[in-house]
Amino acid sequence: MNIRFIVLQETLGRRPVEVPPVPKRSDIFEINVFNDEKLRQYVDKATFRAYLRAKDSDEGISRQLADKIAQAMKQWAMENGATHYTHWFQPLTGATAEKHDSFLEKLPDGSALETFSGDQLAQQEPDASSFPSGGLRNTFEARGYTAWDPGSPAFIYGTTLCIPTVFISYTGEALDYKTPLLRSKHVLNEAAVPVAQLFNRNVEKVYPTLGWEQEYFLVDRALYRGRPDLMLTGRTLLGHAPAKSQQLDDHYFGSIPARVMAFMRELEIEALKLGIPVKTRHNEVAPNQYEVAPVFEEANLAVDHNALLMDLMSKLAPKHDFEVLLHEKPFAYINGSGKHNNWSLMTDTGINLLGPGDTPKRNLRFLTFFVNVIKAVNDHEELLRASIASAGNDHRLGANEAPPAIISVFIGHHMTRVFNQIKKLKDGKLTPQTKTEVKLNVVGKIPEILLDNTDRNRTSPFAFTGNKFEIRAVGSSANCAAPMTVLNTIVARQLKQFMIDYEQRRAQGLGKDEAILNVLKDYILQSERILFEGNGYSDEWKAEARKRGLSNHLTTPDALKATLKPQYIDLFVSLGVFTEAEIRSRYHVLLEQYNNKLEIEARVLHDLVSNHVLPTVLEYQSRLATNIANVEAVSKQSAETNRRWFKDLNTNIEALQKGLETLKKLLEKLNTTDDDEAKARLIVEKIKPAMDELRTHADALEMQVDDEMWPLVKYREMLFTR
Ligand code: ADP
Ligand code: MG
Repeated sequence: MNIRFIVLQETLGRRPVEVPPVPKRSDIFEINVFNDEKLRQYVDKATFRAYLRAKDSDEGISRQLADKIAQAMKQWAMENGATHYTHWFQPLTGATAEKHDSFLEKLPDGSALETFSGDQLAQQEPDASSFPSGGLRNTFEARGYTAWDPGSPAFIYGTTLCIPTVFISYTGEALDYKTPLLRSKHVLNEAAVPVAQLFNRNVEKVYPTLGWEQEYFLVDRALYRGRPDLMLTGRTLLGHAPAKSQQLDDHYFGSIPARVMAFMRELEIEALKLGIPVKTRHNEVAPNQYEVAPVFEEANLAVDHNALLMDLMSKLAPKHDFEVLLHEKPFAYINGSGKHNNWSLMTDTGINLLGPGDTPKRNLRFLTFFVNVIKAVNDHEELLRASIASAGNDHRLGANEAPPAIISVFIGHHMTRVFNQIKKLKDGKLTPQTKTEVKLNVVGKIPEILLDNTDRNRTSPFAFTGNKFEIRAVGSSANCAAPMTVLNTIVARQLKQFMIDYEQRRAQGLGKDEAILNVLKDYILQSERILFEGNGYSDEWKAEARKRGLSNHLTTPDALKATLKPQYIDLFVSLGVFTEAEIRSRYHVLLEQYNNKLEIEARVLHDLVSNHVLPTVLEYQSRLATNIANVEAVSKQSAETNRRWFKDLNTNIEALQKGLETLKKLLEKLNTTDDDEAKARLIVEKIKPAMDELRTHADALEMQVDDEMWPLVKYREMLFTR
């Protein structure tokens, strides 16, 4: 039986699920979140004040205080229908993890007691043996701890109270994405406050902000089940391009189909209840591709919210007979999905440090942070590249749709002009005339709103967009913490260096503004190679970037390897964001993950071709052979045409059989290769090309074989369902 027709049948007559309109935002926002306001209602004043103090300090929360908070949390959670609690964390597997425990505890006499203590809130020991550690823990002692992160509020998800936590080894090493992110926030604050204080003495805290934009595909659930490759690898390994795809851009501007709208509406409602401040929804470039984005938040919270939203989407979609595809490249020939990470720096006095102001003084502050970020990226472009490396993202970076694998910074024509003026300044003391000139024409001329739509360069991986930088090269399934950690860390390092360079200029007798401008000028001159305003997709840029000495790591193994360079290890270790052991273990975990993903893809492709495609085409081949014999009996000439068809078909079948054998041998070789780096090389150099070759012939055969016989759901069917 042809499964394709069964699942296609199933999609007929689908109706949108009834979802009520989105209620007034204030009626539902954070109703499932144990925020400070709720805590205040459940504890006495002294406890609440102690909590607020402890939350902001480095000392952490005392056991006694934790007990009181746990008590309050449990009461609120149970009043709101929660029966279980879990420590919620983000291991390096890329998904979120939970281990549920009941609030109920059986007493020896058989009665039950609802318990949840400060101990249980503060720390847990999940069975960590199944999480990757890259050798940080011995398997016989696979102990990891989750520890409460009071910077991100607990929430009720279903009937479970989820407590955001970090995940660390027995010996304190980071096993997750959040631990290094929190450390990087800490050093960034330390480094940025003195710089911010040059402009405003009152600043006591600086923190990173993140506003992500999440792209995704929706596919009908039945059709998804008709594609073993989608189910097992998250992407289609086969499939001929549909005659119509995104050429007309009609999806981008089109209205949202009713079924999708219902899904989006429910997602919005549930997200708002969880405190995820979603605000935009629209179609994306590719058919069936969409985007959701919230208002920006403090980066740690935003990272949690993105991880939670990805999980929420996957849970809600089946109710609407959809599956969400978060993979970076679910369909060949069609745009993949990314996740733009908008990043900025905010002070506790409410100032966006990357936002230009309306006075020369504010603009000098803006310029200072702006230039330092650019210098940081210039000096560590490889680290940013590595932070977004994944098997899925390899399909986008450098493939003429996402930004290229070369990291560059786009600043727009206005800031380019400002830079050119600063570059012209003389070294050392400025004459009163120059000072006035700078005030009026350089820092005085930066408009408060720099947003200029003509300036938007979609091909840039790292673009300044008016009051924030936008990393556009992040993969759609990625955990935002990885690029955020790198960005925070390299900017922290740079800001520390800035203070040293600034003090040195001051010691030479320069005034404050002069000293700042002198240092910024040096940085601009030192960072010129990273600035690029042109077309990032072009071959000229690749050649130019090579001349400039910028890296162009096209594959994940290549990109990851760079993180082991001594200068980068030194950077992370000296700032306390990673230990050397953590860096090495992460490298191994990520490389192993890459190898495993690719090995699974190769196996699935092999099975699909030998179990689905080949039997089908062989059957069609014999049908054609019979046909030729029959036709021959009537007309030799007509049979000749049919023979040509047969020959074309045969060429692809032979290539397919040969390709299968090649892939099989390569997989056997992979199996007997132990070393992860050697495995990665085999994959990149041999297995991926073999997979591409196999696909080419399978896709050609899809066009040659009778549609009625083809066993796999076709692209046109998956991509244009309503
Ligand atoms: P687009 O890039 O789609 O044209 P916008 O430029 O309006 O959209 O904003 C993109 C994203 O930038 C939004 O999701 C928003 O949350 C985020 N954003 C705006 N200001 C900041 C900021 N100061 N820090 C971090 N993110 C921000
Ligand atoms: Mg954007």
